Amino acid sequence: MSLKNFDVGRGIGKGQFGRVFIAREKTSGYIVALKMLSIEELIKSNSEKQLRREVEIQANLRHPNILRLLGHFHDDIFFVLILEYAAKGELYKQLVKSGRLKEKKASRYIAQMAEALSYIHKKHVIHRDIKPENLLIDLNDEIKIADFGWSVHTPSQRRKTFCGTLDYIPPEMVEGKEHDEKIDLWSLGVLCYELLTGTAPFEEPGNTATYKRIAKVEFTLPDHLSYDARDLINSLLQRDPKRRLPLKDVLKHPWIRKYKKA
Ligand code: AMP
Repeated sequence: MSLKNFDVGRGIGKGQFGRVFIAREKTSGYIVALKMLSIEELIKSNSEKQLRREVEIQANLRHPNILRLLGHFHDDIFFVLILEYAAKGELYKQLVKSGRLKEKKASRYIAQMAEALSYIHKKHVIHRDIKPENLLIDLNDEIKIADFGWSVHTPSQRRKTFCGTLDYIPPEMVEGKEHDEKIDLWSLGVLCYELLTGTAPFEEPGNTATYKRIAKVEFTLPDHLSYDARDLINSLLQRDPKRRLPLKDVLKHPWIRKYKKA
């Protein structure tokens, strides 16, 4: 594969290392997204290893709610990822536009996230960077987890690296303790809160203030939230990772069941 195999269309996004274009594979007519990463930038920022890991992990995942990495190639200038095209773009943009999502819509997205996270955890992968900016939406309103830049194969020992986005990191990471796949359960709780309210639960102007609130699990649930939505958020935002509601029970939760498509 090379760029010659594609009719490259308009730019649809800009990331840390390059641009994303919509493109059509010439022989099949298949529409994809091409993520063109500058090799020079990748080398300069010492990110080749992280990219290789991202590619290896994502190429082996097959799930309706995980963005498919269909292939990759490179020339002298660009490393190119061939990605499934998610026509409705970032969930974050939807959230900014509408302020907050209706409970039905949020419930369906959280259900899709729980399905996708169950799948990756079974494959011993933890995502570690769940947030609306990393989630894309396709034409059928299906969530696609898109960015595996921070994900890891869980080795036998637990992880201690500090990573992820401030608002979404769990208490055990704030405190530099070991963590495991249960960090994704916490992030799912933060996501659920943010989709329903438009802001992250521990948001503060400074990092230190945010960390403090996360460590104390200090958040308030606005009045407009339903009883079931509150119950799900409370059962995911548990300080003790072992007490967080497991994904199989998230999928059985009344707030998820209520809005499940027939
Ligand atoms: P990234 O470099 O992954 O942060 O991508 C930059 C932006 O390009 C994203 O925020 C999306 O808006 C867009 N984008 C990336 N990949 C896709 C895709 N597969 N389908 C549609 N839009 C995408």
